[in-house]
Amino acid sequence: MPHRIDLEQLCADKGLRITEQRRVIARVLSDADDHPDVEMVHERANKIDPGISIATVYRTVRLFEEAGILDRHDFGDGRSRYEAAPEAHHDHLIDVETGKVVEFVDPELEALQKQIAEKLGYRLVDHRMELYGVRLERDEK
Ligand SMILES: [Zn+2]
Repeated sequence: MPHRIDLEQLCADKGLRITEQRRVIARVLSDADDHPDVEMVHERANKIDPGISIATVYRTVRLFEEAGILDRHDFGDGRSRYEAAPEAHHDHLIDVETGKVVEFVDPELEALQKQIAEKLGYRLVDHRMELYGVRLERDEK
């Protein structure tokens, strides 16, 4: 989805010290629209700065996550995947064959979840919705 938050800017807002390597990792994460795992982030960061180690990527990702500017997802295959905390909420559909992640928002679904929480006596403050699917054959796109 477009309009990703600029992680570098958020680091500055949160008062996180921005080293050159963190800046590179922040940029890679801000540019990604495919929910990469740490290895993918490392690979991309290395193209910009070959001196960035996987340990640095792990540390930086954890730091960003703790600062609340990076979302971690577990899409069922045991790999943590990351995205810059989006400005607007969205949910995910995961293609179980390819691992591709499709983002969607459905106002009816959002409303329904709120209603369910209220029916159970709660005010909804957050949710996670993950759909897992295989692509229908008739649709080759
Ligand atoms: Zn997403």
